[in-house]
Order: sequence, then C-alpha cells, then structure tokens
Amino acid sequence: MTTAPCAVPGTPLAGVKAGLDACVHCGFCLQSCPTYLTLEDENDGPRGRIVLMRAVRAGTLPLGDDAVRTHLDRCLGCRACESACPSGVPYGQLLEASRATLAAARPRPLAVRLALGVFRRPALLRATMATARVVRASGLARLLARLPGRAGFAFAMLECTRPPMPRRAYAPPARGNAARVAMLEGCVMEGLFVHTNRATARVLAMHGYAMARAEGQRCCGALHAHAGDLEGARALARANIAAFERSGADRIAMNAAGCGAMCREYAHLLGDDPAWAGRAAAFSARVRDVSELVAEAGPCGPTTPLRDGAVRVAYDAPCHLLHAQRIADAPLRMLRAVPGVELVPLPNADRCCGGAGIYGLQQPELSQAVLAPKLDEIRQSGAAYVATGNPGCLMQIGAGLLRCGADARAVHPVDLLDAAYAADAGGLANPGTG
Ligand code: SF4
Ligand code: SF4
Repeated sequence: MTTAPCAVPGTPLAGVKAGLDACVHCGFCLQSCPTYLTLEDENDGPRGRIVLMRAVRAGTLPLGDDAVRTHLDRCLGCRACESACPSGVPYGQLLEASRATLAAARPRPLAVRLALGVFRRPALLRATMATARVVRASGLARLLARLPGRAGFAFAMLECTRPPMPRRAYAPPARGNAARVAMLEGCVMEGLFVHTNRATARVLAMHGYAMARAEGQRCCGALHAHAGDLEGARALARANIAAFERSGADRIAMNAAGCGAMCREYAHLLGDDPAWAGRAAAFSARVRDVSELVAEAGPCGPTTPLRDGAVRVAYDAPCHLLHAQRIADAPLRMLRAVPGVELVPLPNADRCCGGAGIYGLQQPELSQAVLAPKLDEIRQSGAAYVATGNPGCLMQIGAGLLRCGADARAVHPVDLLDAAYAADAGGLANPGTG
C-alpha cells in the first residue's frame, strides 16, 4: 500500500494511486513479460516497473532519474501483464500516466517528437504515406530491405505492406438488415494497407452491415498516449468522437488492434472532461473489432477453397487485441470460416512480437531480441501465412520473415476471408504461396 505523500501533485502519476496500490507484488505477471524474459532484470518486468512508479510518486526517486526512464522506455506496453494479473492492476494506464509525467519533466527524444508530429498533421501524414507508397512501388524498398541494421529493417517493414494475395474486388449483395457501421480507417492502414481496409468494408457488407463513412476522422492517438503525450491523444480523440457522431453509425469498426484498444480507452482518456466524458463513453461502447462484427453477424459462406490443398495458417494474437481488448476467439472463428485454411498451432502466439508502435525506433535491439523467438516459432510451425490483425505486427513479423528468407508471409485475417469471398466470385487472381 502506498502511504507516502505524493511528490508529484497535479501530474497524471498522482492520479493513479489506486492502480499502483492494487499491486501486491505476487509476481504472477513476470513470466508473461517479454522484456523480463529477455533481459532477466526485475526492473524490466511489470512488478519492478510498478515499484519504480511508486518511488517516483512518493519522491524517493527523482522525476528525472535516468534508470527509471530507461526501464519504463523498455516496456513494450503489450499489457500481457494485465492478462496475467490476478489483482486487476491496470498496468497500461499506470504506464501511460508515468510516461506522461516523465515527459513533462524532460522532453521525449527528437525522433519520437517528429514521428508523433507527423501523425498529428493530416496533410503531412498523407504526404509521408504517399512517399512511402512510391518507394514501395519503385522496388526500392525490396532492394534496400537487404541493408544491414535498422535502415534495412525499416525498408523491409515497408516492403511487406504489399497485398499478400492479389484479388479482384467483388460486389457484396445488398442485405441491408443489420447495423450501420463506420470504420476507423487508421493512418497506417489507409496509408499502406488500403487493400485490407477495402477488404474489411467488403467483408462487413457481405455480412449485412450498412457501411457509412466518418468524414473528418483522424489518427486514433494511440502512439501519442503510449509515448506520454496525453493532451495530443485527447485532441485526436475529440476529433474522432465528433466525426463518428456525424456519421450516424451504430458501430465503429476497427481492423487495427492498437487503434481499437485506444478507441475503447477514450472513455478513460476523457473521463475527467465534463464536456466530453459522456460522448467518449458512448463512442467507446460502440467500438468493435472486425472479427467481432463478423462473429456477431453469424456465418454466411464462403464456400470456395483458396486453392487446391490446404493453406497452412498460424494465428499470432496482437497484444492490443488479446490483452487490451480481451478478444481471443473471434479472429480464430473468422479464420476457420475460410475454406481451405488449415490452422496450425503457434507456440507463444499470445506473446508480443516486439513491434509495439514506434518501439523499434526507440529500442531497436530489444525489439529485435523480442522478435527473434517469434520468427523461429513461425518457421517451425510450417505455416505459409501468419495471420495477425494489427499493422504494427504485420510489419514487424513480415519484415522479420522477409529478412530471414522465410517463405511465410504475414496477412491480416480479414484479407484471407475476403480472398475466400473473392474466390466465390471467381476473382481470386493469385492464391498465394505455401
Ligand atoms: S502487477 Fe499483478 S501480477 Fe504483477 S506483481 Fe503486481 S499484483 Fe502481482
Ligand atoms: S506491458 Fe508488456 S513489456 Fe510492459 S511490463 Fe507489461 S508485460 Fe512487460
């Protein structure tokens, strides 16, 4: 129990006393923590980080303490510790509050501030994504993905955003009896995975949803909140709440786990803002992952196998779907609905891949160390595709597979279901590898 007076009054860390107090130091979370397992240091596990947060709050460690910053910076924010914790410690909220408090005392690194600034400015974001697409289309990304180190990995991340299985669009039949749905298009999803966004819209329409568009929507703010820029995240949240209210949608569809988790957190993020708390809670209550919407609507085909013979697919759970949103079965049910897919087990599919937003920018070595066992497990599974519903995971795993010469590709689960509907319509151009 934290009994010391608060040494940081008025900060986000001051407001999370109950969450800090909930930790009873049992250690059940340790074996779920990728950084603890990789570094074997108590300070790089959830329990140790909570002790550091408490010490800063109590003033026994200064706000500017380098070691505190280092150990909190190394946290992936994967929230596997939340799933493991029997005491209900809201670790994600503690981390965000701590990072925001530390960031106010000392600015974040320039590269992080630049990245966050791009995601806050729509015109700049569009220009950045357009440039990335040109680099990808030119073949430069594939070429430069062979470079050693961080630069090569970054180009590999870009290269593996190409559509994994080209298919022609098909026209979903008009059903029109279900809820009206608007999709959060997402910065990276609309910029680099537009094929998945279009697939999501087609699949939802196939399942009877009436699709609407939320004009004026923005970045969800997840990167900002995770980096401690809570005010930046709140500004984006308000813009999105207003945009989706205008759309008249009953449900807000997500196909990026990180965005979905953030949007469900708007209620918490704006909980102290009297003008927005109610609207934020109503918004968060309408958020659904695409796999949940497909499961809610029930089965409706498809029937044509993706190709002759089984396509071996392993599912890797995005942390922000499994741990932050507690969605485990819906994506698997979606994959099982695809004719010709053979789901193969993937050990430690519930463990982070090391992607974690802009983590690779800040902690490149640790990000790679967390990814390495995941790549081994995928290769041993014999899967032709690794299905995972988050752009960061698709790029992290996809780039890792590309650079180690594996045949397997990362794919969003909704792309596989969409490919099956395309096959039904005779429009599957290339059934893919494996
Ligand atoms: S965070 Fe939860 S599981 Fe981990 S030590 Fe604290 S109470 Fe135990
Ligand atoms: S969020 Fe992930 S990396 Fe951070 S302490 Fe929890 S389990 Fe470890």
